[in-house]
Formats: sequence, structure tokens, C-alpha cells
Amino acid sequence: MRVVVTGAAGFLGSHLCDHLISKGHTVVGLDNLITGTTRNIEHLAGSGKFSFIKHDVTEYIYLSGPVDAVLHFASPASPIDYLEYPIQTLKVGALGTHKALGLAKEKKARFLLASSSEVYGDPHVHPQTEDYWGNVNPIGPRGVYDEAKRFAEALAFAYHRTHGVDTKIARIFNTYGPRMRSGDGRVVPNFITQALEDKPLTIYGDGKQTRSFCFVSDLVEGIYRLLVSDVNDPVNLGNPHEMTILEFARKVIEVTGAKSDLLFEKLPVDDPKVRQPDIGRAKRLFDWEPVVSIEEGLRRTVEYFRGVAGG
Ligand code: UDP
Repeated sequence: MRVVVTGAAGFLGSHLCDHLISKGHTVVGLDNLITGTTRNIEHLAGSGKFSFIKHDVTEYIYLSGPVDAVLHFASPASPIDYLEYPIQTLKVGALGTHKALGLAKEKKARFLLASSSEVYGDPHVHPQTEDYWGNVNPIGPRGVYDEAKRFAEALAFAYHRTHGVDTKIARIFNTYGPRMRSGDGRVVPNFITQALEDKPLTIYGDGKQTRSFCFVSDLVEGIYRLLVSDVNDPVNLGNPHEMTILEFARKVIEVTGAKSDLLFEKLPVDDPKVRQPDIGRAKRLFDWEPVVSIEEGLRRTVEYFRGVAGG
């Protein structure tokens, strides 16, 4: 396949490019580089299978030649980034999805949307199943991301129903691994960066809120299986292993051997209290489930962060 990946220079996008190329496909990567970096894709430059175009996908995407699949992964993806780029976040979820879907329609390509567990907001159903409609505050600081992803899902479904585009929707839960930005503000890079400097780990709130962390190699395998499947309904992709943020902090201290204390800080507005994917649909429809343990995934991620810190 010749595949277009938007957000190719980001954390998930770049791992996806690696995976697609390892499966023998050719990738055209697009990114406007506001939160992504070409460091994440420079190793692909000589492969002959990858080309990169610096482009803001909220603007018309013109590409010559055939395209078999469009994967829309462009978006700021951490609460700190939404605060810094609220309008860009809304635009890439709305206008960017429109342009990416337009490209897929024009090229008769399949389309995959990187949606999010954030469509469930602060959930009243636990674990979250795909048929839950969510509990989102549209005007809160996270609303720019949550509502953009909800709109993007609605638009993808409208293109599917109206134009027959073969659309897929991945609802991605917390994912971590090498190439996360140490300053992106999410809990994994924050804790690892703090631990490697023996600084206190910043726990927001009482740390009893839960998350379920999926290692990036598991996630991209799930994305790939969804892409080549005939599924059009939304599918949760994430690791169901749920833990409190306090438990997660202790894990990071254990894996890094840090001498860090814990520092309790204010809980951000609308921070979801629980989050855990029900992955029954992915298991049933394309036999996917994560295989990398939190210890192993953290070891590999810490190794990456040590490398970055060491230059
Ligand atoms: N969090 C924390 N300390 C940090 C960063 C985040 O305790 O330094 C908490 C945050 O409040 C949330 C959880 O960790 O409850 C996961 O936050 P993240 O930003 O990684 O992603 P989210 O799942 O909230 O989108």
C-alpha cells in the first residue's frame, strides 16, 4: 500500500510509519511540526519507502499518484498542549479530518482516524465500552480536544454513510513509549524525567485517579490490524491493566531506582477519575490484545529518556 500518515513526526505517528514500512508499505508523512519533530522520522530518510511533506493538514492536501490508505494522526495530544494550542487542536480535529477524509474519498483509499478515550470524558461507565456515549464538558480546557475528536468521529461516519468511504475509528487510550517529549506534560514523561533527576514526582490531586497504560508497539499493532480489517465501527485500543497514579509513580521509582519523593499538586480541571478500556471488540474482531507488561514497557521508555538526557 501507499499510505498517507498525518502527524507523522509525532510520537504515535512516527511509530506507525516505522510499522507500516516494516510491513513493506510506502509512507508519505505530513506534519506541521508544532508538537512533532523531524528527529522522530530522520532515521526513515534513506529507506526509499518514506517521504515527508511539512504541511498543515487543516489546509487542502494535494498529492499526486495513488493512495491506498489515509491515517489521520495529526493533533496536539497532551493537556498542556491543548492549553497552548486550543484553536489548532480544534482545527486539526475538525478541518484537518475534513481534508484527510476528502483525500481518502478522492483517492478511493481507506481512512483511519486516531480518536481517543477522551470521547468518553470523565466516564460514568467503567470500564469503557464502545457503546458508551461519554460525559464531556464541551467548554472546559480539555473540551477542545475531546469535542474535536467527537466531531472527527461524526465526520468520518458521515463520509462512510454518504460517500461510502471505508472509515475506521481507533479510540486510543493512554499510550507511552520512546519519542514522547519530555516536556509534553503527560504523566509518563513527567514522572520519568523527574525520576531520572531524583526530583519529586508531581502527583496531581490525591493520586487515586486511575489510568491504563499501553506500550506503543502494542498500540501500533492494534492500529494496523484495524486498518486491514473490514471493521467500520469504533474500536477501543489500549491496555486494560488499570492502576492508580500513585501506583504508577511507585512503578516508575522502582524501574528507575530513583530516590524521588512524591509531591502532591492541584488536580487539573475535568481530569477524568477513572479510565480503563474494554477491549472485547478488538479481541473478537481482529484478535488483538497487548502483550508488553508495564515493567518491560517502562524499562524501554526509561532507556530512551536516559539516551535523550545523555545527548
Ligand atoms: N498527572 C500527575 N502528574 C503529572 C502529570 C499528570 O499526577 O505530572 C496525572 C493527571 O492529572 C491524570 C493522569 O496523571 O490524572 C494522566 O495524565 P496525562 O496528562 O498523562 O493524560 P490524561 O489521561 O489525563 O489525558
